Amino acid sequence: MASNEIFDIAIIGAGPGGMASAIEAKLAGIHNIIVVDKAETHNYMIHKFYKKGKRVDKDWMGIKFEFEGNVTFEECSKEEYIQQMDDLLASHGVLDKFVYNTEVAYAKKGEDGLFHIPFGQDIVKTKNVIVSVGRMGKPNKPGYKFPKAIKPRLNFNLSDVKNGERVMVVGGGDTAGEYAYGLVEQDDMQDCVVTLNYRKPEITRMNPVNTELTMKYINNGKLLNKMGVDVESVEATEDELVKVNFTDGTSEVYDRVVYALGGTSPKDFLVNSGIETGKWDEPIINEKTMETNIPGLYTIGDVVTDQGSIALAFNHASFAINDIAAKS
Ligand SMILES: Cc1cc2nc3c(=O)[nH]c(=O)nc-3n(C[C@H](O)[C@H](O)[C@H](O)COP(=O)(O)OP(=O)(O)OC[C@H]3O[C@@H](n4cnc5c(N)ncnc54)[C@H](O)[C@@H]3O)c2cc1C
Repeated sequence: MASNEIFDIAIIGAGPGGMASAIEAKLAGIHNIIVVDKAETHNYMIHKFYKKGKRVDKDWMGIKFEFEGNVTFEECSKEEYIQQMDDLLASHGVLDKFVYNTEVAYAKKGEDGLFHIPFGQDIVKTKNVIVSVGRMGKPNKPGYKFPKAIKPRLNFNLSDVKNGERVMVVGGGDTAGEYAYGLVEQDDMQDCVVTLNYRKPEITRMNPVNTELTMKYINNGKLLNKMGVDVESVEATEDELVKVNFTDGTSEVYDRVVYALGGTSPKDFLVNSGIETGKWDEPIINEKTMETNIPGLYTIGDVVTDQGSIALAFNHASFAINDIAAKS
């Protein structure tokens, strides 16, 4: 990948929704795309969670579907479905667009109007993004127990943080840095006291921009430095705040601890990308185009519904690509 290449579409997730988006894009004449998946193959959820020989139904969970786009499948076994998809991707010549074993935490629009996606050591820039990350993702959790009384104060994104809280962010990657300095910079969070905790004494895993910003706030004292020590356990104080016990024998009390240890849930992805969500954490979208509140950012497949299916994800892919093609 050329470092200053600007893609027309970055597709996050290579399940049925992401895979169909790649094919629909090709058929719409949009060739400059990239498909990223954290797993080692397309349709990974189906590889992993469907049992051997399972019949893959078109009308899943009793809901009848008509295919509305170009991508379809014949009802068959799990193994035959995967073969059909392998053949479809190969016959449309899009297999070289897929990048595997790469997890994406969010897609944010920059001032240049392009989306900037942290991608391994690089930042991918793209005009449009289709998020098709399904619902099976989970954030990584630390090894110690979360006592019940303080569970609501132990979070995996910033959505519950309130102004004035003492917040400790745990982690050493880009998300941890962006959470920590993001809170310091946020106008309506100016009374928060933010600490960054990372088990290593120095930042080694953030991209250069995030390293620079994080270190700037650590050096000017706006971000408290608790690096070089690990958390051993957390317990509830009498007034149900979080007492954090560190491996060097010290303890501190916080109102909230936010873990950014990798592994993203769909909710994290949406919140971190600035996508508006509803009561059940579902993204608010235009149902005809799948576009979110952020122009150029689309969500499709299981992320947008709790009654998802392969056919529905295929149809969503066609709605999103039709909209992108119409606007190109
Ligand atoms: C056991 C089971 C049986 C089912 N049987 C049927 C059936 O017979 N017929 C039917 O129509 N439907 C069935 N479904 C539902 C169907 O599988 C889903 O609706 C469909 O897979 C949704 O496609 P998707 O692309 O939205 O998400 P997914 O298939 O979940 O794909 C999401 C992809 O995104 C990747 N990803 C996630 N997070 C990230 C990230 N942060 N960065 C990069 N990549 C990421 C994942 O690795 C995955 O490959 C079944 C579901 C289950 C669990």
